[in-house]
Amino acid sequence: MSLVIVGSVAFDTIETPDARRERIVGGSCTYSALAASFFTKPKIVAVVGEDFPPETAALMKKRGIDLKGLRIVPGGKTFFWEGRYGDDPNQRDTLRLDLNVFGDFQPTLPPSYRSPDILFLANIGPSLQEHVLSQVKRPRLVAMDTIRHYIETEPAALDRVLRKTDVYFANDEEARLMTNERNLIRAGRLLLERGPRLVVLKKGEHGALVFGKDSLFAITAHPCEGVVDPTGAGDSFAGAFLGFLDRAGDFRASSIRRAAVFGSVLASFTIEDFGIERLATLKPAEIENRFAFLKKVASI
Ligand code: AMP
Repeated sequence: MSLVIVGSVAFDTIETPDARRERIVGGSCTYSALAASFFTKPKIVAVVGEDFPPETAALMKKRGIDLKGLRIVPGGKTFFWEGRYGDDPNQRDTLRLDLNVFGDFQPTLPPSYRSPDILFLANIGPSLQEHVLSQVKRPRLVAMDTIRHYIETEPAALDRVLRKTDVYFANDEEARLMTNERNLIRAGRLLLERGPRLVVLKKGEHGALVFGKDSLFAITAHPCEGVVDPTGAGDSFAGAFLGFLDRAGDFRASSIRRAAVFGSVLASFTIEDFGIERLATLKPAEIENRFAFLKKVASI
């Protein structure tokens, strides 16, 4: 199978109640591709400026990520995002967002990207998500993610993407904003009526709910006592979920369940350090151990 991911590759400035880091590498595509790379060899579609560190591209290559769809714009500046977390790691404020080279990025996909089995439209403007979707032969599975910014500024384009989506990833805040519904179970059901076959609602340290038309699956999050930087948890969840399905080669209920647990495992590693630091040093055995642990704590 094959997995294509489109999303942001970014510099992030992040402030938590305990620390601040300036211009570290982040981006929805970066986190999700790194997380997926523990299961498969994802292909990425993104754009960076000349200021992007070659060490990060080297890390991605070393992890088996296909960079043919990563454009480097000579003289351009990489996407920049600044966010601040309060005491609740599930709440954050965007302080600054500079699209830079993403402002007018209209990629032409390399031929080897045009018939993916799985396409992940990670968080980026919905018009770019649509542009990528229009260039591929209908994948077996289309997944998407977005954030408050696009729900508030481009709801119509988002709805069009959602209609063509099989799996929609949202956190509790996004699900409520999309549906105007406070009850998460009702919000999940309402979202299912707008296109997707599966809706994955992530609830931070409380785990996640996977809604299908006739099914509901709940998973716990790894019990983590100290969150260093919550950024990228959602992208890592989605990347591992889809990377696992790509490796599994089927979308049976049992595979979906395992994919969700691997999603939770990868997210739990990402938040242990700033940016992509923890994913950069992560070993497959650590993933397996945490998977086994989650299986044990969730068994009745
Ligand atoms: P997550 O914490 O999983 O929601 O994703 C965090 C990542 O999303 C950060 O590394 C940011 O660079 C990226 N990001 C933030 N805002 C946007 C945006 N408007 N479009 C695309 N990516 C964004």
